Amino acid sequence: MPVKKNTRKQILITAGPTREAMDPVRFLTNPSSGKMGLAVAAAFAKRGADVVVVCGPTHEKLPAGVSGVAVESGAEMAAAVKERLPRADVFIATAAVTDWRFASVARHKLKKGRGGRFSVELVRNPDILADAGRFKRRVKPELLLIGFSLETEALQQAALHKLEEKNLDLIIGNSPASFRNEAITALWIERRGLISRFPAMSKTELAERLADWVQEELPAAPLRPGAKAPRRPS
Ligand code: C5P
Repeated sequence: MPVKKNTRKQILITAGPTREAMDPVRFLTNPSSGKMGLAVAAAFAKRGADVVVVCGPTHEKLPAGVSGVAVESGAEMAAAVKERLPRADVFIATAAVTDWRFASVARHKLKKGRGGRFSVELVRNPDILADAGRFKRRVKPELLLIGFSLETEALQQAALHKLEEKNLDLIIGNSPASFRNEAITALWIERRGLISRFPAMSKTELAERLADWVQEELPAAPLRPGAKAPRRPS
């Protein structure tokens, strides 16, 4: 029997924090809950797209109709994305990847020792979204790339810089107040130059706006075969 080709749009999402082991009982991480990424996943699944979420440790439930790939570290997240990126039509990086990992992971629990100080060496984790930006530049220019930028200062400047540096189509800036929060105050910056400051809204509402935007960016091909492509506002 011929294998039926899956023509649904492939949406790849990273979500949640990553957790970098120091020894078998300690790790470095951040307070990301995964709520934003899972809300985005739910919005696309509802529209009939094929959605895979590569998700760091979270207490949140995987939305209905979404495939989940559970990972712990930034390296694991990077490997899971690299494997799936060639099939993706859209990559949305919402994960708060821990920028650093321990240069070596102790096999046994580290002892506190006698001194008042303890030094460790950290090394940079791969930048998953920047790697996807290079993949878009060199291999797949039609890949739609969306990133988030969390800043404590100069949000617009930093977000614009990342949009350029990581070769993105859209970046959504926000502040640490969005961590674990149901709501998010977003600064929306498109590659084409549009900048909008959104009032605080639920992550579900922002996810719906994002899915609307992606649907408009892919007008020739709806997220699900048989569905009507939305008309661009004239
Ligand atoms: O450079 P910065 O970490 O602020 O960029 C944030 C954006 O890049 C987010 O979309 C985040 O998911 C993504 N990112 C990534 N891999 C990293 C660091 C950030 O995919 N190592």
